[in-house]
Amino acid sequence: ALEIGSVKMFFFPFVGGGHQIPMIDTARVFASHGATSTIIATPSHALNFQKLVTRDQNSGIPITIHTLPAEIPDTTDVTAGPFIDTTVLLQPLKTFLLSHPPDCIVIDMFHRWAGDLVDELQIPRIIFTGSGCFHRCVLENIRKYIDIESLSSDYEPFVVPNLPHNVELTKSQLPVFARNPSKFPDRMKDFEDKSFGTIINSFYELEPEYADYTTKELGKKAWIVGPVSLCNRSVEDKTQRGKLSTIDEQGCLKWLNSKEPHSVIYVSFGSLVQLPPKQLKEIAYGLEASGKSFVWVVGKIRKSEKNKEEEDEESWLPEGFEERMKESNRGLIVRGWAPQLLILEHGAIGGFLTHCGWNSTLEGVCAGVPMVTWPLTAEQFSNEKLVTDVLGIGVQVGSREWLGFGEEWKEVVGREKVEIAVKKLMEESDEAAEMRVRVKKIAESGRRAVEEGGTSYQDVDALIRELKERKVNGHV
Ligand code: UDP
Repeated sequence: ALEIGSVKMFFFPFVGGGHQIPMIDTARVFASHGATSTIIATPSHALNFQKLVTRDQNSGIPITIHTLPAEIPDTTDVTAGPFIDTTVLLQPLKTFLLSHPPDCIVIDMFHRWAGDLVDELQIPRIIFTGSGCFHRCVLENIRKYIDIESLSSDYEPFVVPNLPHNVELTKSQLPVFARNPSKFPDRMKDFEDKSFGTIINSFYELEPEYADYTTKELGKKAWIVGPVSLCNRSVEDKTQRGKLSTIDEQGCLKWLNSKEPHSVIYVSFGSLVQLPPKQLKEIAYGLEASGKSFVWVVGKIRKSEKNKEEEDEESWLPEGFEERMKESNRGLIVRGWAPQLLILEHGAIGGFLTHCGWNSTLEGVCAGVPMVTWPLTAEQFSNEKLVTDVLGIGVQVGSREWLGFGEEWKEVVGREKVEIAVKKLMEESDEAAEMRVRVKKIAESGRRAVEEGGTSYQDVDALIRELKERKVNGHV
């Protein structure tokens, strides 16, 4: 038998929440299985997870950070997002790879620029896409079978062909590049097709048909290793993940402790999207009218393109809203960054109003919390379909428009829609109770997947073994 433990894996995450966080967790997971994990970061980027890594090191886990001597902005600006210029990292990366050749490098798909370099150095390259199997299957089959330009209406649902379920989407919910065949990301596909394989942060039991479809129908070599967020077991892990939270955690937990089980809805739109004041106002009114308690994370507020000066940061708050919520003890507003895992896993949380970012979706599932789905951009409309139509663990708020990076805000979802969806999820109905039972069952299978012998656990070991064999056989 091969001895596992000496495989050297590099992880090169993209900067920023939804991409950085799961990849750091993935590096920690592989290190806990005996691989030697090195995370490649820039100086300011490394600060976001230095504490976590140091604690892992102190418990004997083989993980380190290599800081490249170059900087790119750590952005939460949705207009910059994946499009910031990262090529300044090329030379420092090359120097590092030449002096410390690893057994493989796991790269975020947004670091496509590094692909040629890595191939030239003949290092096995593994892609980290950040989304699940379902979205990949949806996108691939739209690309293969749908003539987007022939769709007459933007809002008429069409069925994505040849999938295990009847998945319906509209043209208006598709990424811009998917609406225009000439822009369909073949380059992205190439980047992946020529790689050693793909690491997927999901678990087999969540989307078995789509996991099989990914490997068997689409022919992808993939290791499904999640939910990687479950490697955060301690309170410190959960609060030091991503950025440092901007609230008093103890105060927040105390507030949640005062609430009945399943009575509070957690509202968050992830790390990238910034909502404009007019949308925030509708959410505030909707939450108030629902009569339910809430924790609402309001990150950065999107300024109007036209009225940058005029918009007051607080102009989104309805008159007296915060005072009323305080007096009635009904709502907690977090300005900035919340310890999401800690909040979601609290017994008082009974629902999650989410933008359906893949990490948030998985974290909601793993916390056993049904969801109000409010997709906005990226692959979030696919994720919504998985949550509501396939898994039956969510209620759609009814957003209809895909939002491009840097575009003017297109669609304001009205307060009534927010109120209706929140009530539907949080009220004592048979439908809500059934959703809760279903999601708890899936959460349980997620926990089992990462335990010894579980499907994800086995996939982690399988990749390590494969890399080890490659190494022993001199194929590097
Ligand atoms: N997150 C957090 N606190 C916040 C906002 C986000 O911890 O206040 C974390 C969240 O737990 C998740 C990630 O940031 O792990 C967001 O990733 P997701 O894929 O959901 O959305 P994105 O930010 O990429 O749109």
